[in-house]
Amino acid sequence: MAQVQRMSRLMVKTLRDDPADAETLNHKLLVRAGYVRRTAAGIWTWLPLGKKVYENVARVVREEMDAIGGQEVLLPALLPKEPYEASGRYEEYGDLLFRLKDRKGSEYLLGPTHEEIFTQVVKDQCASYKDLPVILYQIQTKYRDEARPRAGVLRGREFQMKDSYSFDTTDEGLAEAYALHRAAYQRIFERLGLDYRIVSAVSGAMGGSASEEFLAPAPAGEDTFVDCPACDYAANTEAVTFALKPVEGAAHPAAEDLDTPDTPTIETLAEHLGVPASATLKNLLVKVDGEIVAVGVPGDREVDLGKLAEHLAPAEVELVTAEDFEGRDDLVRGYIGPQGLQKVRYLADPRVAPGTAWITGANKPDTHAKNVVCGRDFEVDQYLDVVVVEDGDPCPACGAGLKLDRAIEIGHIFQLGRKYADTFQLDVLGQQGKPVRVTMGSYGIGVSRAVAALVEQTADEQGLCWSKEIAPADVHVVAAGKAVQTELALDVAEQLNAAGVRVLVDDRAGVSPGVKFTDAELIGVPKILVAGRRSAEGVLELKDRRTGEREELSVADAIARLS
Ligand code: ATP
Ligand code: MG
Ligand code: MG
Ligand code: MG
Repeated sequence: MAQVQRMSRLMVKTLRDDPADAETLNHKLLVRAGYVRRTAAGIWTWLPLGKKVYENVARVVREEMDAIGGQEVLLPALLPKEPYEASGRYEEYGDLLFRLKDRKGSEYLLGPTHEEIFTQVVKDQCASYKDLPVILYQIQTKYRDEARPRAGVLRGREFQMKDSYSFDTTDEGLAEAYALHRAAYQRIFERLGLDYRIVSAVSGAMGGSASEEFLAPAPAGEDTFVDCPACDYAANTEAVTFALKPVEGAAHPAAEDLDTPDTPTIETLAEHLGVPASATLKNLLVKVDGEIVAVGVPGDREVDLGKLAEHLAPAEVELVTAEDFEGRDDLVRGYIGPQGLQKVRYLADPRVAPGTAWITGANKPDTHAKNVVCGRDFEVDQYLDVVVVEDGDPCPACGAGLKLDRAIEIGHIFQLGRKYADTFQLDVLGQQGKPVRVTMGSYGIGVSRAVAALVEQTADEQGLCWSKEIAPADVHVVAAGKAVQTELALDVAEQLNAAGVRVLVDDRAGVSPGVKFTDAELIGVPKILVAGRRSAEGVLELKDRRTGEREELSVADAIARLS
């Protein structure tokens, strides 16, 4: 049986003041309430109360993954570099990767995500179509050397992710696995008590086609998205570009009509921009034949110039300032996505249909943008996102004024297709006795980030405020007084515990009731049960942490109510 958690023995040190460098609610409150401790920038220790909350989130994720037939595995975090070299990501990830060597000088990395390794596992374990479909998942520590590891456990350099991977022989199978994950994610985030939106997304470093993000609206979030107050339309600011309609009456010739000259090299681009080839671009302006045709504003994401040059052709690229935008409503706004530079908002250039991949595949000289298929013809590991929508722009679904909001990316699901299967020649023997190439999906949830997102969405002035499913205990019993109160508190705690209720009891001697109340609010267990003034009569006070509602109850009633 579970034990009553006694504050007198629990390793928890609450703080009255916010840590000096803390900017976000989760950083301030999780540290102040003694849930986590910063070990280094973006590297966190989960203390006893924090570990409980973390495990509760992980349990919900696990239960819902099991419910869709997911099989839990555990892959290593320390990985040989070769598979990542084969996929090209060893290079593409750049500074994001933690790289290391063993004593013999062999090179390794700490896994930022595991598509390569899962593909190898399935190649090794599954030989026939009869072995598929399969969904594998793990809840594991990931490593990314993030440029700005701020915001508490929201953006760690070491963090916990649930990542799953689906393997199918048919596109329909992949679509089904994707739908199963989407539904499981909805159940997970509902159970966690997170307010979230599902938005379509471009797949960034993953490559591949269909992709959606789960966003938890919160001011501390680093993603911008648009939300319609009148209908259920929501989109991230990249994807919304696709939803914008072309100018009526304009001609949209097919992509194959377009010629693309040679690709500029990194050196030409850098020279043109007057920056070193290792520079990072913040804003871009794309010119074709001297005409400005596209503007990219990559938000707070940065674009590696070297990577950009591989995918950008034949345009000239310039750094621009805000003034360049003044009065230029005619500019086509575009972005570099999985299909290269895409015209997305068609305003000035009558040659290209919105969403058409028109400058693509052109990292080979003299190529034309003919029938280019994303994922098949090339891979893109970085993209620019462009904020094309402003507050009040019309909703593509209903026409109401859109709202621009900040959100935390809590989950991301991808239909990868055959990108990794191609890299590792992952085939199984098909029904006809011939090898069939496997198609994959990959699906992530930030488990540690979900804890942060919950804090950002639910905490109040007094402190943390957990839902029952996630809280480190169901009831926080406070002994507010001397021996009588402590005795009653411990007795009630034991009775509740025996009834299967998870109890934290503040039995600390020499700590004033005022301090105990403040700590109880800060720690954020949903129900606070106080043994106070009327303890001798066996009367307790029950307080709801969220609503602040209080009532007096007998011991028996309190136990009946809480169990
Ligand atoms: P972000 O845009 O915030 O950098 P991402 O798109 O790079 O996230 P994915 O590669 O899609 O992240 O990983 C899947 C999930 O892992 C994300 O949706 C997020 O919840 C979580 N995650 C990613 N990076 C971090 C991090 N540095 N710290 C904590 N959680 C993270
Ligand atoms: Mg990232
Ligand atoms: Mg992201
Ligand atoms: Mg993502």
